[in-house]
Amino acid sequence: MNKIKILIVLIFSLVFSYCDIPLNGNNKTETPDFKADSAYNYIKNQVDFGPRVPNSKAHEKCAVFLEEKLESFDAEVIIQKGIVTKYDGEQLAIKNIIAQFDPEKKDRILLFAHWDSRFIADQCLDTNRINSPIDGANDGASGVGVLLEIARLISKNKPNIGIDIIFFDAEDQGEPSFLNKMSEKSWCLGTQYWCENLHRKNYTAKYGISLDMVGSKNARFAKEDNSRHFAGYLTRNFWKIGQDLGYSNYFIGELQKGILHDHVFVSQMTGIRSILIVEYNYQNEKGFGDFWHTHNDNINIIDKNTLKAVGQTVLEVIYRE
Ligand SMILES: [Zn+2]
Repeated sequence: MNKIKILIVLIFSLVFSYCDIPLNGNNKTETPDFKADSAYNYIKNQVDFGPRVPNSKAHEKCAVFLEEKLESFDAEVIIQKGIVTKYDGEQLAIKNIIAQFDPEKKDRILLFAHWDSRFIADQCLDTNRINSPIDGANDGASGVGVLLEIARLISKNKPNIGIDIIFFDAEDQGEPSFLNKMSEKSWCLGTQYWCENLHRKNYTAKYGISLDMVGSKNARFAKEDNSRHFAGYLTRNFWKIGQDLGYSNYFIGELQKGILHDHVFVSQMTGIRSILIVEYNYQNEKGFGDFWHTHNDNINIIDKNTLKAVGQTVLEVIYRE
């Protein structure tokens, strides 16, 4: 082949290979379909270990399960171990379980939930049972189950943005309500530990989304006041996307009073503006469902339709980035 022919072949192959690149300039990756069955199984897996109270065998075994699951989804996993002090002085050995997807990407979103379950059923009416720990199928395991399913889907079909998923420990080991002390710092101990010891130097994310109690039947989610304060646009956008997807029964127009939760510490201590998606029950003065911090918070209250509404909305938010 002479030089001119080679040049022509080169030009043609360049043109044709260029044609393989989408020309619409829209790089949006298609949003995967959230599988509620899969999320439900991940919740059941956790509950089957028993209550995940720090310093217990069930807690230890569940940590291994979560780590191995995330590794199976090709995440780079970091287990951040620490010792924190419970309100009564007990030292808790905690593990924050951190999964990084595409850690080289600069733009990131942080998704988080707590994986421990409460050591006491202090909202239980049966005083004989107050001191035994709860399953926390909804309070703890549901947020983790939804995020595990999201991790599975991300591993198959990467969004444009980097994702970090953190399962925080020791969120729910705070002072019992009957002590009436309202010591805010006795809650979210794992999150506070992480905020003071970030897994990567100068770690930051565009924003954060926290999930808790996202699995009970006919759950309602209202815009929570601290979320509006820290990330008003994100809160409005999340609700709008949920409603546009057809989940208006879940993402209602009402407002919910501010709740002390992991998103408050993350927003205040790291500057990563974060919102909380948590069940809201206006008929109950506690603001949550009747199951909350009782033994009724077990696998029987988990409903796949609720998991689907929440999981699909989170996916849509991150795949629109
Ligand atoms: Zn919780």
